[in-house]
Amino acid sequence: ERGDRSEEQVSGAEVVARALKTQGVEYMFGIVGIPVTEIAVAAQALGIKYIGMRNEQAACYAASAVGYLTGRPGACLVVSGPGLIHALGGMANANMNCWPLIVIGGSSERSQETMGAFQEFPQVEACRLYSKFSARPSSIEAIPSVIEKAVRSSIYGRPGACYVDIPADYVTLQVNSNAIKYVECCMPPPVSMAETAAVRMAASLIRNAQQPLLIFGKGAAYAHAEESIRKLVEQCKLPFLPTPMGKGVVPDNHPNCVSAARSRALQFADVIVLFGARLNWILHFGLPPRYRPDVKFIQVDICAEELGNNVRPAVTLLGDLNAVTGQLLEEFEKTTWQYPPESAWWKSLREKMKSNAAKAQELASSMSLPMNYYTVFHHVQEQLPRDCFVVSEGANTMDIGRTVLQNYFPRHRLDAGTFGTMGVGLGFAIAAAIVAKDRNPGQRVICVEGDSAFGFSGMEVETICRHSLPIILLVVNNNGIYQGVDPGTWKEMLNFGDAAATTPPMCLLPNAHYEQVMTAFGGKGYFVQTPAELQDSLRQSLAETTKPSLINIMIEPQATRKDQDFHWLTRSNL
Ligand code: ADP
Ligand code: MG
Repeated sequence: ERGDRSEEQVSGAEVVARALKTQGVEYMFGIVGIPVTEIAVAAQALGIKYIGMRNEQAACYAASAVGYLTGRPGACLVVSGPGLIHALGGMANANMNCWPLIVIGGSSERSQETMGAFQEFPQVEACRLYSKFSARPSSIEAIPSVIEKAVRSSIYGRPGACYVDIPADYVTLQVNSNAIKYVECCMPPPVSMAETAAVRMAASLIRNAQQPLLIFGKGAAYAHAEESIRKLVEQCKLPFLPTPMGKGVVPDNHPNCVSAARSRALQFADVIVLFGARLNWILHFGLPPRYRPDVKFIQVDICAEELGNNVRPAVTLLGDLNAVTGQLLEEFEKTTWQYPPESAWWKSLREKMKSNAAKAQELASSMSLPMNYYTVFHHVQEQLPRDCFVVSEGANTMDIGRTVLQNYFPRHRLDAGTFGTMGVGLGFAIAAAIVAKDRNPGQRVICVEGDSAFGFSGMEVETICRHSLPIILLVVNNNGIYQGVDPGTWKEMLNFGDAAATTPPMCLLPNAHYEQVMTAFGGKGYFVQTPAELQDSLRQSLAETTKPSLINIMIEPQATRKDQDFHWLTRSNL
């Protein structure tokens, strides 16, 4: 006990909650238990929305998606030891995606440290590898300034995950409330601009390009640069390509979008401008044979350390994406230059787009049963509301779905991302639905999962039902990972021994009724095998405005992507 008893007392839990509230944290996802229950209660009492989840990993994914969608970090609240360890996956994913996130972890009592306390673990150390900032306040009085620093670090520079450790003895300790000084909410990130000379050089390179290409990444989406980017596209008439989560910065159906000729655009462009997109595996490292050996890259990024990764860029534009795009626009507004719409480059791109679209159309209109991926996504796309959030994960499910499902608005697609994380879908969908509820009521969330991907966080269906979030979950079910087998084949396999001995590691239980996970908690479940059943169930699910649905879509277990010109690069075929 400390402080004057006649004064108002406040607990460490309340200090944590008020400090988060003061820093503009609106949402907290987590799982309560020793020693953090009081923090969740205090946060809720102050008006922070608290969403109790079923696994810390999913809670952490949800909190990070809130950060991406709103530009303010969501908080993830976890218990000591195993709770924190479960959250590490979410922290790593947020950091890899450059999304802001605050993790608040309870830890064992300081007086028992090194004695084998309940759930004792070196948490601050453990988080360091998965975050930009990891610290334990030195006292209750220091909590507000450490939380301010964590929130500020999460959104300044390249966004990322930050960890604050709260020992159990802080949580319940009462201190004189006058002793606590809350630090004012941190200022919005300062906006930096690129060097004028570099901007001029970039503009000149673009003007002189024969086969230019703009690439929009999720950095452009996060930076809310959609307006200036769209102006640039339209003023200069340049072809563009979004990365998976860069989709929607400019609508997918914009005439300058060359997604349907992605490989060709990458392979033959002579000048490429990267707007908040890294040259990692998603963009094939910027290297031949996926690119011309003499391609000139112009990199726009807020992170200086990113510039020059894997290639030697022709020009680097270090700064905030929206501000730098504005600088480029100004440069182009001085002239009336436009990239000629009748160029051989545009002709070549359009030709490829047309033939690729025809191939996909042919697969989509196939009448054979079980359905293939293209048929499924074709029917889903037909009914998707234009402004819905599309969440997606899986292997083929995500890759093929991305090419068919359109985004018309920025920050409306959430997927496995830079880290290729499976298990993010339900957490992301919950975050999107919670954000939609507050900011854009009526906006829907469609979560397109492979059957394997669904399994990683399937119990979050209970969270969805508890909060009456009208999420539509689609499980594109091929009975396995990459590919599965039909029930008959599986039965034959079992005849030769038990499942562990005979079933290929890719197989999951054939004909699993995942929709019953949803009906178990009061939502709507559908088991569909034909295009007509799929259309009906989608129509009914969209008509439900308070109840979630799960549509379990049976597809051909051996279905794959249409033939690709290239496979993913590995070291051996670089
Ligand atoms: P994608 O997966 O879409 O290619 P990445 O996550 O690889 O996108 O790249 C996003 C990039 O955007 C990161 O390098 C990050 O530093 C950068 N970035 C994030 N916010 C901003 C911003 N406000 N201004 C400029 N760049 C940003
Ligand atoms: Mg599967």
